[in-house]
Amino acid sequence: MFDSFFSHSILKRAIEKKKISVGVHNLRDFTHDRHKTCDDKPFGGGPGMLMKPEPIFEAYDKLFGKKAKKRASGFRFIYMTPQGAPFMQSTARKLSKARHLAVLCGHYEGVDQRVIDKLVTDEISIGDYVLTGGEIPAMVVVDAVARLVPGVLGREESKEFESFCRNLLEYPQYTRPSIYRGLKVPSILLSGHHKEIELWRREAALKITKKRRPELLRKGERNASGDQAVGAGTGQKGHPGF
Ligand code: SAM
Repeated sequence: MFDSFFSHSILKRAIEKKKISVGVHNLRDFTHDRHKTCDDKPFGGGPGMLMKPEPIFEAYDKLFGKKAKKRASGFRFIYMTPQGAPFMQSTARKLSKARHLAVLCGHYEGVDQRVIDKLVTDEISIGDYVLTGGEIPAMVVVDAVARLVPGVLGREESKEFESFCRNLLEYPQYTRPSIYRGLKVPSILLSGHHKEIELWRREAALKITKKRRPELLRKGERNASGDQAVGAGTGQKGHPGF
C-alpha cells in the first residue's frame, strides 16, 4: 500500500528532492516466533484480536532509539485510532513543525493499551467512521503534513489561500475555456482587475463557508484576537480574514 503511495506525484518528488524522508516498517519483522505473531485475544474476552505489545515496543526501541524519548527532540509517535482527536488542518500544521514523526497503524480491534500509555504521544482520528486498518488514516496524515513542509509544494503561496486557512473554505475556481457548453466563467475573473477579483474571491469564500460550514466562521470570530487579519477590509464584519 505504501510503496504505491510514496512513488507518485508530489510525495515522490519531495522524497527525491530530500525535502522529506520516509520509511515503512513491518511489525512482523520484530517478532520472534515462527508465525511472526502480532496479535492475540483480548483479556476479559470479547470479539476480535488485539495487536500485541512486544513487537511494537521492540520496533520502537530499535527504530527510534534514544531520540524516541516521549515528547523529546521533536519526535512524535502517533497512533491512528477512531478514538483519537479529530485530524484538522491545524493538526497538520502543528505536526509539520516536528522533526520526526512515526505513525502506528492499528489492525483488528486495535492495540494493547500499554502501547498507548507508554509510547504514543498523539492519538488521531481521521473521522467518525471505522476503517479496517490504520494505513489509509496514516496516508491521510502523511500527505496533509508533507505538503506543508517547506519546499514540498511548487508554489508555497498556494497553501496560504486554500480551504481552512483563516477558517474559510476556498472560493470557486475556473480555468480555460471561458465558455464551455454555454457555461460562462464569472466575468470579473476575466477583467484583469486584481483588487476586484480579490474582493470577489473573499466574498465567494465567505458565502460558501456560511452556507456549508458556518461553525468555521464562528471559530474565526472567537479566534479573531489571536489570528492574523489578512488584507484590506471589505466591509464584512466579524471575520478576521476580511
Ligand atoms: N476497535 C476499534 C474501535 O472501536 O475504536 C476499531 C479498530 S479498527 C477496526 C482497526 C484500526 O484501524 C485501528 O486500530 C486504527 O489504527 C485504524 N482506524 C480505523 N478507523 C480509523 C479512523 N477513523 N481514524 C484513524 N484510524 C482508524
